Amino acid sequence: MKKVAVIGAGVSGLSTAFYIEEFSKGKVEIKVFEKEEHPGGKMRTAHKNGFTLETGPNGFLDNKPYTLELVKKLDIEDKLYKSSDKARKRFLFVNGKLVRLPESPIAFLASYVLSIKGKLRLAVEYFVPPKKDNSDESLSSFVKRRIGEESLEKLIDPMAAGIFAGDPDRLSVKAAFPAVWQLEKRYGGLIKGLLAMQKEKKDATAGPGGVLMSFKSGVIDLIDSLIKNIKGKVLTNTSVKKLLKENGKWKIVYEKGDEIFEETFDCVVLATPSYVAASLVKNFDHELSEKLNEIEYSPIAVVAFGFRKKGLDHDLDGFGFLVPRTENRKTLGTLWDSSIFPNRAPEGKTLIRAMVGGARQPQLAMAGEEEIARFTYKDIKKIMKTRHKPELTKVFKHSKGIPHYTVGHLERVEEIFKKVETHQGLYLNSNAYKGVGVNDCVYNSLKTAEAVVKNI
Ligand SMILES: Cc1cc2nc3c(=O)[nH]c(=O)nc-3n(C[C@H](O)[C@H](O)[C@H](O)COP(=O)(O)OP(=O)(O)OC[C@H]3O[C@@H](n4cnc5c(N)ncnc54)[C@H](O)[C@@H]3O)c2cc1C
Repeated sequence: MKKVAVIGAGVSGLSTAFYIEEFSKGKVEIKVFEKEEHPGGKMRTAHKNGFTLETGPNGFLDNKPYTLELVKKLDIEDKLYKSSDKARKRFLFVNGKLVRLPESPIAFLASYVLSIKGKLRLAVEYFVPPKKDNSDESLSSFVKRRIGEESLEKLIDPMAAGIFAGDPDRLSVKAAFPAVWQLEKRYGGLIKGLLAMQKEKKDATAGPGGVLMSFKSGVIDLIDSLIKNIKGKVLTNTSVKKLLKENGKWKIVYEKGDEIFEETFDCVVLATPSYVAASLVKNFDHELSEKLNEIEYSPIAVVAFGFRKKGLDHDLDGFGFLVPRTENRKTLGTLWDSSIFPNRAPEGKTLIRAMVGGARQPQLAMAGEEEIARFTYKDIKKIMKTRHKPELTKVFKHSKGIPHYTVGHLERVEEIFKKVETHQGLYLNSNAYKGVGVNDCVYNSLKTAEAVVKNI
């Protein structure tokens, strides 16, 4: 029987292992190595005093089918938890106030998010010619060119912070927002593209929109179910230290407790962050290691606050809010978790989670937990105009939280994958390369598993 090692038990590693077993019909022996005590990577849930606290993602969107298909295969559809309708209302903190983000173009033009000048600049996008070549550019440069500086600062910068904890001046528009980039390429502009797509949709049988989905006990339900369904071993507290190429096979040197072990495999999937992959491939491909090290990460801290509902001077009626950099606040944004998924807080209580740091202010995410909690609460108090003290505070720090897809990312990844192909039996799969969303991770895991099984 062929042996496959998967290094890293985040959602990418676990779903790759699951799909390899499924596609190979049990003809492959799998071993998953995870350095932490618990599997899940960024995707974990903590339960405390009746609160359900997500350490990273709070769900996935159903506008791509991949996670839902995996859920079906795992037979855990009964655990799915759809976000409440309240979650459709999103807010921005602009000019010192929380303003509801308009949902339709008409409502947008009537809203106070942009000044009249900003709205006019946005409207003339229709006449802005498309960029002639296909070269990459930063999100800021793309947005300024097409819809103007004010839209960048008030709309796009907070969105980049919300998804990537990213810096729009450095994020690649092609890699981070491929659908937006495609609108210009295919239709000549954003307004033209949106109009054309609306027309196309009229003829199509309307599919579901992007609704946020999670699981009844939190995102950990997906991780637990993957673990339960993987027949091979998932070794936790097991850190892979070295990867060696030996006679067409892969020798893994790993540490468990104080002991060092070795084991040889036919094939290895590196489902770790890219900087870990860089350190593991260094001894047999220095160039590949250097390329992998070019992928940057932004630190991020998640700060959960549990409040008593009574006396809280805010109805938390919505998804939460994002904060543009021009507002000079410490938080990137806040999710009203128990409004999105009501069972996240016990009866009479409410749960919010703020995000801090990112590429915008990385040093903030690296401060001590108490300090992070203190300055985040101060921000929340001002923004949400509440004097209520939280009865629960918990900080989750991710020193290398989210990969930052900077300008040139797609070309970098292409070079990386070309180099990887020259090493038979070596695969790379994590959120560092082809998408950071849970859906992207699951899709890329399925594709990696297909390739492993085809080539083994
Ligand atoms: C705060 C935050 C909020 C997010 N919110 C959302 C959201 O709402 N929706 C969404 O779709 N996505 C969200 N994301 C993104 C998504 O959570 C991640 O992209 C995804 O979970 C990454 O999974 P992964 O398996 O690729 O990587 P990871 O989760 O980083 O897993 C890699 C694993 O490799 C292990 N490892 C590392 N080195 C070794 C070694 N030497 N030996 C063995 N194991 C090793 C690590 O311990 C880890 O478990 C969020 C991310 C963060 C940080």
